Amino acid sequence: MDLWTGLLHHVTGVHQWYFGSCHYDPLESEMNKPLIPKGSVAHQRLRDLVLDSRWLKTVTKFLSFRSTAELESFHNHILMYAGKRFAFSKKVYEARVYLASLDYNSHLNRGPRRKKDGSTQKAKLYSKRTKMWRLYTYKAPKEYKYIPDLQALILQSRLLSQRGMADSHPLRPEDPRRLGPLAGGIAPTIQELEQQHVSRGLWQASE
Ligand SMILES: [Zn+2]
Repeated sequence: MDLWTGLLHHVTGVHQWYFGSCHYDPLESEMNKPLIPKGSVAHQRLRDLVLDSRWLKTVTKFLSFRSTAELESFHNHILMYAGKRFAFSKKVYEARVYLASLDYNSHLNRGPRRKKDGSTQKAKLYSKRTKMWRLYTYKAPKEYKYIPDLQALILQSRLLSQRGMADSHPLRPEDPRRLGPLAGGIAPTIQELEQQHVSRGLWQASE
C-alpha cells in the first residue's frame, strides 16, 4: 500500500515521504520529465483513481490473480485417459490419472513441429469464446519415451512379485466401494413405495 500510494508523491517529484520512499536510485533520464504539481487538477484526478475505495478493496484479488488455463488443460488431459462416460474402479482410475500425468509432464515443453526445410507448421484456430481467429503452431509429435521404462518396471515388478495376478485381496479401509451404493441403506420394496404414494394421495392404484 505504501508503494502504491507513493505513486502520488513520485509524480510530483517527491521520492521520499513520511511513510516510505521510492524503491530505486534516482533516474537520470527521468529528470527532465514534466512533473504533476501537487494539488493540481491532474494530481487530484490521479488521487481519486489511486485511492478509489472500490479499487483498493478488490486489488488484493488482482495481486494474487493466476490464470487457470494450465489447470484446465491438465484436466482435459486427464479426461483423455479417464473419460467421464466410463466407470473405473479406484485402482484403475488412479493408474489412468498417473498415466495422464506422465504423458502431460513429459510432453509439456516440446518444441514446434518442423518440416524438412526446418520451417514450422501453422494452422488457424477459431475461439468460440472470444469469437476471434488466432494462429496456432503445431507441436512436435509426442514421443512417449517413458513407455519402455514403464514396461521394464512392470515386468520387473511382475517377476519379483510373490503373488499371482488373479489373487483377490481385501478392499483397503479407505476404498469408497466399502460405502456401498450411492443411495445408502436398503432399497424399499415395490409394495412399500405403493403404500407411500397412496398415503400421500399422489397416485391411485388401478386394478
Ligand atoms: Zn519516485
